[in-house]
Amino acid sequence: MSEKIHNIPIAKPSLGEAEAEAAKRAIMSGWVTQGPEVAGFEREFAAYVGAKHACAVSNCTTALHLALLAVGVQPGDEVITVSHSYIATANSVRYCGAMPVFVDIEPQTYNINPMLIENVIGDRTRAILIVHQMGMPCELKAILDIAHRYKLPVVEDAACAIGSEILWDGKWEKIGKPHGDIACFSFHPRKVITTGDGGMLTTNNPEWDKQFRLWRQHGMSVPDTVRHGAKQVIFESYPMLGYNYRMTDIQAAVGREQLKRLPEIVERRRYLVQRYREKLVDVPGLKLPTEPTWAKSNWQSFCVRLPEKCHQQQVMQAMLDAGVSTRRGIMCAHREPAYSIEAWSCGIDADICECKPGKCDRLSESEQAQDRTIILPLFHQMSEPEQDRVIELLKTICQV
Ligand SMILES: *Cc1c(COP(=O)(O)O)cnc(C)c1O
Repeated sequence: MSEKIHNIPIAKPSLGEAEAEAAKRAIMSGWVTQGPEVAGFEREFAAYVGAKHACAVSNCTTALHLALLAVGVQPGDEVITVSHSYIATANSVRYCGAMPVFVDIEPQTYNINPMLIENVIGDRTRAILIVHQMGMPCELKAILDIAHRYKLPVVEDAACAIGSEILWDGKWEKIGKPHGDIACFSFHPRKVITTGDGGMLTTNNPEWDKQFRLWRQHGMSVPDTVRHGAKQVIFESYPMLGYNYRMTDIQAAVGREQLKRLPEIVERRRYLVQRYREKLVDVPGLKLPTEPTWAKSNWQSFCVRLPEKCHQQQVMQAMLDAGVSTRRGIMCAHREPAYSIEAWSCGIDADICECKPGKCDRLSESEQAQDRTIILPLFHQMSEPEQDRVIELLKTICQV
């Protein structure tokens, strides 16, 4: 048979002529860094998620850093979050000089277990940083209830969750409205829409929005866009320590095109996930992710828990040998050398904590999710025959 077998990647950004034209528009305009395209992207993004304010930054990690600073996280503080996330989540806490305190996840949704949050709230707790992992909304009602009782701000790491929805007082609302205090998004190519790299903060607090705009540009009192258009000479000043966390206008121009296509992209992902579900439901021992009745994921990633008898790395290798890329489950920060026990806290029981960087009984669901799950290919352009190839392959390998 001469049929050419092509490889199926784990993900592929959905970029085309419209995005290329938009980048060209920004380039030809002569204004390429944070300017009118960024302002347009922010307006359109805020309208899409239903937030009062949206502020574009260089990526989601810098967005998380600014969000934590805004809610008052300082050196010596503790921030409650999950280990089971891309390492950027925990890193953003450490950029503030604070310590992440890790709590375990729920095995069905891969999100923070709200029941475990209160156990680790202590005198030094300054904020709760939740992650809508792989696009699945967290149990926000329960989390906000705890946060309000303890007067703690909630920052949402929504890096993966653009287009995800939650049922709120009987209405479907977008993640990022935000339901917590601040939500942070990523436009890295592995996410549902991309600007190459990029991030966005959404909030309904105008003071924080103002603060983000200063911080992202070195604390500069008068932005260059304003000085550029001014009829009189203006000198700027730098009243506070800031950062260079700007998004460029080239990125924002691409982002505006991606945002227009987001509904169609999310719809396609939901369709493909429905197909995965229908065709994988009868594989013995294979566990598919749960979508609670009050949540609609954008399915940034589709993660399956392997049957007991299947070895994660062997399954992944066999699939790769057959031309299908997969990834292991989401990492756990506490198992990385960058997270020696000194770099994270067990919370209030720190003195009696028996956790080691590689193993922590309190985080066993997180560790198992990393070790026992794989992420299957899922992208906008994926065809049904391609998806069937992935499904048949997984079935063959898993049913031995
Ligand atoms: C991708 C990701 C980030 C980091 O986003 P960048 O834009 O690459 O900085 C943070 N948190 C989570 C959960 C992510 O998946």
